[in-house]
Amino acid sequence: MSMPTFSYVRPRSLKEAIQHLSSDGARVHAGGTDLLGCLRDNVFVTRKVVSISGLKDLRGIQDTKEGGLRIGALTTIAEIANSKTVSDRYPALARGASEVASPQLRHQGTIGGNLCQKPRCWYYRGEFHCLRKGGNTCYAYQGENQYHCIFGSGHICYIVHPSDTAPALVAYEATVRVAGPRGTKPLPLEKFYVLPGQNVQKETILKSNEILTEILLPPPPKGSRSSYRKVRARQSWDFAVAGVALSLKFNEDLVEKTRVVLSGAAPIPWRSKEAEQALTGNRLKPATIKRTVDAALKNAEPLEKNGYKVQLFRGMLEEELQAIARS
Ligand SMILES: Cc1cc2nc3c(=O)[nH]c(=O)nc-3n(C[C@H](O)[C@H](O)[C@H](O)COP(=O)(O)OP(=O)(O)OC[C@H]3O[C@@H](n4cnc5c(N)ncnc54)[C@H](O)[C@@H]3O)c2cc1C
Ligand code: SF4
Repeated sequence: MSMPTFSYVRPRSLKEAIQHLSSDGARVHAGGTDLLGCLRDNVFVTRKVVSISGLKDLRGIQDTKEGGLRIGALTTIAEIANSKTVSDRYPALARGASEVASPQLRHQGTIGGNLCQKPRCWYYRGEFHCLRKGGNTCYAYQGENQYHCIFGSGHICYIVHPSDTAPALVAYEATVRVAGPRGTKPLPLEKFYVLPGQNVQKETILKSNEILTEILLPPPPKGSRSSYRKVRARQSWDFAVAGVALSLKFNEDLVEKTRVVLSGAAPIPWRSKEAEQALTGNRLKPATIKRTVDAALKNAEPLEKNGYKVQLFRGMLEEELQAIARS
């Protein structure tokens, strides 16, 4: 299939980039590892590709004065995976980044693109004019739904959110900064994502003339432990069939605060508030772990071919919590 034609611009300032994006149908290009595939496969069309690769302020990892980290949206996944600062202070993020795709894609792909990438539902990526593309049917519902979601579909669209870094970032309570014609605004990453029940054609709150510029991580709390684990169908590069990002803050041996975020589970990085409630205020003993696992999967709604995910998440969550209890 040939690539439809479009113009290409590489602005030198954020303001100029936003002006270009304000013209009808323009799209942001960061590393292009996802965007070019979408254009080639006609998932959507564009008249103008706006490369943000010339915006140097959007690169790099820096300490914030509060003791956290600022990661520019153009920082590559490889830089994050290989950063000692990230792996020492935010190990689940380093792990998530190191599990993305292949070494080549990690060197080309950026964290901003990773958080904004389009879903991988094979109907959406194929020649099916499904609900998410403005059609009137979800082909996955009665079709090949083995990799689709078990939470959060709203019985509308069954995609899973594809990023390996987003679950860890939500677990660490990261904030993102979004720049648009009226300036910039910060918001919790958790609130950046949109469920099908809110808007079936959007994955994030971003407007077409807005750019995600940076990610801000708060300082890791004292006594916190965290992890990310991903299970994929193939050993080589592949998206998460299931993933679990955990962040637990202990006071003595009691869990004082926690975030449990599942990937490959829902159209957004899925916070299991039921699991968080079961853990909070308790010791990480086998009985607490069992209650947490039960609570996390209690409201799962598997489709005809993805019921295996319920057992998979149960096993992963149990093993990851046991590992944190031992550490
Ligand atoms: C073969 C293959 C395997 C992959 N495997 C994985 C995997 O295992 N795990 C995983 O998490 N990902 C995976 N990916 C997805 C993805 O390509 C990478 O994660 C990468 O990080 C995307 O970054 P990019 O800079 O190339 O994004 P681009 O392709 O440039 O952009 C992706 C999307 O985000 C938008 N965008 C990009 N940056 C911004 C910004 N700053 N502000 C607003 N919008 C923006 C673009 O308009 C586009 O719609 C895979 C991709 C491929 C092709
Ligand atoms: S799950 Fe969503 S993206 Fe996939 S076919 Fe259904 S509506 Fe389309």
